[in-house]
Amino acid sequence: MEQNQNIKKEEKKKIMDSEKNPCNICIWADNKICEDCSINKKLQCHLDLKYSAMFGGTFFIFFIPAIIGIFKLGVESLLFYLGLVSWIVYLVIFFLIWEPQMLCSHCPYYAEGGTKILHCYANGGFIRTASFKPHPMNKSEQIQFIFGVLLIGVIPYVFLIIGQQFLLLGISALGFVIWLIVLKTQICTVCINFSCPFNSVPKDIVDEFLKKNPIMRDAWEKSGYKIE
Ligand code: SF4
Ligand code: SF4
Repeated sequence: MEQNQNIKKEEKKKIMDSEKNPCNICIWADNKICEDCSINKKLQCHLDLKYSAMFGGTFFIFFIPAIIGIFKLGVESLLFYLGLVSWIVYLVIFFLIWEPQMLCSHCPYYAEGGTKILHCYANGGFIRTASFKPHPMNKSEQIQFIFGVLLIGVIPYVFLIIGQQFLLLGISALGFVIWLIVLKTQICTVCINFSCPFNSVPKDIVDEFLKKNPIMRDAWEKSGYKIE
């Protein structure tokens, strides 16, 4: 009788585990498997708010001077409304539709099951609008992503130039460069979205991660990636 109950409990746990982790990705499995992982602590494979602070904190060095610059165009000016609306609409489309399709859907953070909300250090809390794709990003997606990130800065700057807000434009542009430098040197070196064009995790660590995740490994190898 007791044995039957234990078996039922085990089966229930397996169903719950597979609902939470339908692609069997290690970051969504029981943390116990990380204890003897050879790449433990070498990747940002569990939510760590230190990375959220770096990502968000430096983004605001760019964002705040740009938004002040747009407000300085004057609430009575058409330029102000055009700048504000086009930038906000672009940011919503970029972060909630375009970026998930081309970038985030390839990220193991997007493989979590049983929730519509994303739980990662950068876009945590956003609604998920795409399905997980275990294969790497293709060239077109990589180019779109670089272009899309540049547009985040270019759109407000067009209005700041027309409105001659050169000081705030300069401060914001410096913030944009700082944001990219922090991303590239502190975050991209440990980020688990390995096919992002900015990613700089060493190949041996990428290979180890893929070996732990057969569904991703299979999809990457079918795309031509070679594990050594
Ligand atoms: S790579 Fe996977 S198994 Fe290793 S520490 Fe990260 S989540 Fe755990
Ligand atoms: S970690 Fe980056 S690529 Fe992965 S889901 Fe979050 S924002 Fe997207």
